[in-house]
Parts: sequence; structure tokens; C-alpha cells
Amino acid sequence: MSLFSENRGSDDYVLNYIKTAPRDWGGFVLYGLLQTNDCFRSMEYYNSETILFLDGNFVKASEAKTDLFGQTLHYGYGVFEGIRAYETVNGTKLFKAHEHFERLKRSCKLMGIPFEYSTEEMVQATYQVLERNSLSNAYIRPLVFCSPNMSLTAPNGVSLMIAAWECEQHPTLKPSRICISSFQRPNPKAVTMEAKVCGLYVNSILATTEAKKRGFDDCLLLDLSGFVAEGPGANFFYEKDGIIYTPPAESILPGITRKTVIHICRQLELPVEEKYFRPEELFEADSAFFCSTMLEIVGVSSIEGQPMGLDWKDSMGALIQETYRNIVLEKSYSYVIV
Ligand code: PMP
Repeated sequence: MSLFSENRGSDDYVLNYIKTAPRDWGGFVLYGLLQTNDCFRSMEYYNSETILFLDGNFVKASEAKTDLFGQTLHYGYGVFEGIRAYETVNGTKLFKAHEHFERLKRSCKLMGIPFEYSTEEMVQATYQVLERNSLSNAYIRPLVFCSPNMSLTAPNGVSLMIAAWECEQHPTLKPSRICISSFQRPNPKAVTMEAKVCGLYVNSILATTEAKKRGFDDCLLLDLSGFVAEGPGANFFYEKDGIIYTPPAESILPGITRKTVIHICRQLELPVEEKYFRPEELFEADSAFFCSTMLEIVGVSSIEGQPMGLDWKDSMGALIQETYRNIVLEKSYSYVIV
């Protein structure tokens, strides 16, 4: 039996297959309690051979130079992206590359940062970076940073860097023990939350550091009105009585993975709704998960010490997690069940 279909590579093919396949979740959900590896910590981002893209050139990371008088370094006025490359059954592929670079351009526009690159140029430059560093499973970090200007006005010019480093194909994160952060997400009327702005991540660092200090793996931040917003670097969903809920795109970064998750739910006919909800509602939830490009989908095992109603492997999130993995690897579902 062939493991792969001729139609492999299409998100919807994988989804249609799952829809018609028997739903024996326990049988195919490969769930392991492996060590945490989030591609961001305790690792080497570059070595003496690493090549990155900087302003149209491919240069050694160890020799790349930047100015110390840019607004990004001083004020956090810059934008960035996080993209994944996977070694798929059809070769090395960037997942949702166009969506990420379109968001980078939109972030620049929303912030009034002048930016000239086309999406196609950036996609091609990224594949070059992967090739020059012999990377397949990788995390890619495009960063738009500003030229020297210490005043509080838009810069005259910007630089684009695209770096990449190795990332385990599916960093199998064990379900997280999370808390509710004492830090709120920023006011969306202060800085638009739709833009992936460097300075907004001060809030994420404060929240993550607090959660770790309290002995948790991660946390949820509320918005100004006390409704659940998102994690420090990921969107949030919870399941209750067969329905999946997620906060509306107001005080959150409306993630590309969140959009993919909603698409998967619709295709699998899993009811999904956007709604405002308070953290108390989560104590009645059956399951919950975070999602982001880097994490993919990672379950929540407890909130403020209270375990979720269902084991992660029995949750709708586990089905979505496995489906997402098949989509990013351009695999057919049959590959998982054999
Ligand atoms: N929210 C925040 C605050 C994030 O930093 C991220 C990661 N970019 C996300 C959500 C998820 O976004 P995406 O799915 O596009 O990676």
C-alpha cells in the first residue's frame, strides 16, 4: 500500500481524508512526554559558518554589523516574523511563507515603517538562507530594524535581516501547566495588536518570567477588561461540551496558526466560536491549548494547578494537533495510521 496519495500537499486533501476516516483518536494520536525544546532556549543560533540575509547580501552572521543608534534597539520600534521550514515529503518547504511575509509588510505599514521588499523576494531570500546553511527543519526569523535616528519620528530607512536556525521537526512539548498572569496584554488602542512589533514583546518577557518564577510552564494574559486574551507568544483555545472557543482578534496577535486551526476545525466539522470569556470559565473547560508557528499546538494540562477535564490525548486539541502536523509535512493521513 502506498503511504502517500498523489494529491499530497494540499491542506484540504488531508482534512477531507480525516473527515471520512474513522475517528479513533486514541489509535493514532502519537502523544509522548518528551523533553521541552522550544527552539528558542539553550541553543546555538549561529556559529562561525552561519550565513544570514542582510539588506540584499548573504553574509556571515559572525561578521554582520549593525548601527547602535537605531530606533529598534533603543525603543523597540521594529517588526519581525517567526516562520517554520519543514522537511516535507515533497522537500524542504516554508509553511505559510506568503502569509508571514504579508504580515511583515502589514506590520511595517501599520507602524509607518518604510519597507520596499516584495513578498516573493523575501520568500526566495529565505530559501537561499536555508540552502546556504543546509537547513531543512528550521525556525526563520525575519527582522525589520530601523536606521540611525534617535528622535521619535519614523526613520528614513530600514534594514531587513533573515536568519535561520535548526529546529526539531515537531518539538514534542508536554502539555503545559499554566497560570493566569498578573500582566495584562497591552491596550490595543496604544499600539495596534495586529502588528508584530518588537517592543510589544517586553510584555511577553515580563509575563513569561513571572510564570516561570511561580513554577509554571507558561501563562495566559488577560485584556484590559479582564477577558482572556492569549499567551505571551501564542494564541489560546479551549474546549467545552464539544465546542472550541477562542478570543476574538482584538487584544491578541491574530496568529497564522490560529487561522489554520480554525480552518482545520471547520473542515473537520468541529464547532469553533470566537467569544470573550473570563478565566473562571476555564476551570470548567474540558481541554485547552496554545498554538503558534513555533509551538504548533501544545496542550494545557492544568490552569493555576487545576487539571483540565479531559486527558490531552482524548481532547479535540489532540486531533487538531495531529492534523496540523500532517498538513505542515504535506503528508496524507494514512501515513499516521499505518
Ligand atoms: N500571539 C503572540 C503574542 C505571538 O507572539 C505569536 C507568535 N507569533 C502568536 C500569537 C501566534 O502567531 P502565529 O501563529 O502567527 O505564529
